[in-house]
Amino acid sequence: MTAGTIPAVEARQVIKLFNGIEILKGVDLTIASGEVVCLIGPSGSGKSTFLRCLNHLEKIDGGSLQVFGEWIGYRQVGDRLHSLKESEIVRQRARIGMVFQRFNLFGHMTALENVIEAPMQVKKVPRPQAIAEAQQLLDRVGLSHRYHAYPSELSGGQQQRVAIARALAMKPQIMLFDEPTSALDPELVGEVLDVMRSLAEEGMTMVVVTHEMAFAREVCSKVAFMDNGAIIETDTPQRLFSAPAHARTRDFLTRVL
Ligand code: ADP
Ligand code: MG
Repeated sequence: MTAGTIPAVEARQVIKLFNGIEILKGVDLTIASGEVVCLIGPSGSGKSTFLRCLNHLEKIDGGSLQVFGEWIGYRQVGDRLHSLKESEIVRQRARIGMVFQRFNLFGHMTALENVIEAPMQVKKVPRPQAIAEAQQLLDRVGLSHRYHAYPSELSGGQQQRVAIARALAMKPQIMLFDEPTSALDPELVGEVLDVMRSLAEEGMTMVVVTHEMAFAREVCSKVAFMDNGAIIETDTPQRLFSAPAHARTRDFLTRVL
């Protein structure tokens, strides 16, 4: 990263408690603009919680979190931090797209309606413009023939591609993916990873929680290994997969590779 460039994500000693128990125990991570970072680690290590903190679905209890130079959840006045108002959280969240393991589409809306909803409601984009942009996005994820299909009429892979289009409709600066292919039948995984790969190639900044090690190896610029509420090591996939520095990373990799 060159001096003066604002990182896409700057996490410093992020702490998150649930019921008084530290779930995130000081997460440090820096992501440059345009980077694709895969977050790997055992179940329960805090990967989803960390992504949810980035997207305001959880509030952090300590440390600091910034996305493209803006504090997440707080506003800085002088050297003091103030909690954000709901309207400011909505504005910040619009910059951060998120795709979940379960596609979370609105079941009573068509693919197209799912994609136009947030731009119209949150950004007040006029309906004709929202539709034109949604059609382009659905084309881009390979669903030009399914604009008017309801989620129940789509395969899991198609639903997840609608979910990606829906997140992109807000023109986010960064996309977070939480195990986007884990709920899919194996034969549908590839079509979702292909869309993610092309997004990465177009320069989107991405954080991807995944068990798809081949994807991590091919697409990610960095892999971060998380265990027990902290990121233990971060390296290029080539180095992390072939010569992990920590025993815990080695143990995890021998189980999944
Ligand atoms: P991962 O995504 O790596 O599997 P999670 O972030 O989902 O891990 O969970 C980390 C830990 O936090 C787990 O022990 C989980 O039980 C706990 N946890 C997550 N969300 C909550 C919650 N809302 N309330 C209480 N505990 C939670
Ligand atoms: Mg998870």
